[in-house]
Amino acid sequence: MGVGNKRTLTKTRRKTRDVDQVISDLRSHKHLKQYKDTKAPEDLPGLGKNYCVACARWFDTPFTLATHERGKPHKRRLKQLRDESKATSKSEQSNVLESDKPETAQDSTDGGVEMVL
Ligand SMILES: [Zn+2]
Repeated sequence: MGVGNKRTLTKTRRKTRDVDQVISDLRSHKHLKQYKDTKAPEDLPGLGKNYCVACARWFDTPFTLATHERGKPHKRRLKQLRDESKATSKSEQSNVLESDKPETAQDSTDGGVEMVL
């Protein structure tokens, strides 16, 4: 089986961060900072102020960032991250949500007829 499409062999598109890297970014700010420190702010669009963590992308203005967050690629990415983190946390079994206990509200409104004389 040969590779029919030559473009898949010689991909020149800019590589973004992998999903597992982004998950680590979302979990610890230190991890994210380490990555950001590898880039010089003056080389980044908008001096690196408008960053989408999920997509690992920088934007020129807060407006373009906001527009991006409403867009399809971003939402697709969020879904991908959610699925991936679900899969990893299942194997880790670290933070299981046990806090939401259903509160047993005991209504003491007895339907008895009370006659106050
Ligand atoms: Zn995004």
